[in-house]
Amino acid sequence: MTKRPAPGIVVHGGAGDGWRSVLSPAGEKGVRAAIRRAVGAGRRVLEAGGSALDAAVAAVVVLEDDPHFNAGRGASRNRDGVCELDAAVMDGSGPGVGAVAGVRHVRNPVKLARAVMEQSGNVFLIGAGAERFAREAGLRPVSEAYFHTAASCREWQLALGRQLAARSCDTVGAVALDAVGNLAAATSTGGVVGKRPGRVGDCPVVGAGTYADNSSCAVSATGIGEHFVRLLAAREIAGRVLDRGETPIVAAKALLRHVVAKGGLGGFVVIDRRGRFAAPFTPDAMPRGWWFRGKPVTSAIWRED
Ligand code: ASP
Repeated sequence: MTKRPAPGIVVHGGAGDGWRSVLSPAGEKGVRAAIRRAVGAGRRVLEAGGSALDAAVAAVVVLEDDPHFNAGRGASRNRDGVCELDAAVMDGSGPGVGAVAGVRHVRNPVKLARAVMEQSGNVFLIGAGAERFAREAGLRPVSEAYFHTAASCREWQLALGRQLAARSCDTVGAVALDAVGNLAAATSTGGVVGKRPGRVGDCPVVGAGTYADNSSCAVSATGIGEHFVRLLAAREIAGRVLDRGETPIVAAKALLRHVVAKGGLGGFVVIDRRGRFAAPFTPDAMPRGWWFRGKPVTSAIWRED
């Protein structure tokens, strides 16, 4: 009998060049602590024999609730100053898929994406219809003010004044492998700061920013979403792992080269079915962390970490 790989989880808090200028020492501590809490939430699920999907969602909920990241509380605002939130989950064992876009009153869009996958009979709901379904699924609405923080307001004002290019992408995501070999991915975002109202990036577009299939790997992306959608980047990584036998790091780096060649930036977290993982990124920083059974929790922010 072949031995199963150790269960594990890898999370990210977005890849960007902007982090260094906005992160105070206290902020850096907060980001590291949040990443470790997210990894810890996934680890607890996996150590208790829970599923990769439960672990990935638990990790993303922690990051959505933490105001340091562009997802849930603290999410980026669009041009009109409104948070329009996107999220997706994918269960590699189905494979099952659920996604939402443009929701404004859902505290944890990743939970709604999961409810879409498990309860709606559909795969992708947007806007008011998604919010109505959230209430049917028992997710209590929050006010728009819940998402706003002083930092997200300042970032929005800088973006409007064009002093901030879309270079800081602090979307959150997680990929996990459980003890029975299932893979899952979850991603959540407020999208690019100052975006056109109604704009949807890669995060909820399954195969672009989020993908999982037990036969290959699970992927969660961050970066300027348009590039990832055009390349169907997450699915492309899975294809390379499956068809060409590439490792996660080789496949993910190949896709990042395509993204950079088109003028984009970003990063991925990837776990394959053998438990090999990668977290490459192109800008200065990508808060990230991981844990595999028998190993300590590890976290990092900067390229040189
Ligand atoms: N990928 C996200 C988007 O384009 C942005 C991010 O990674 O922060 O909506």
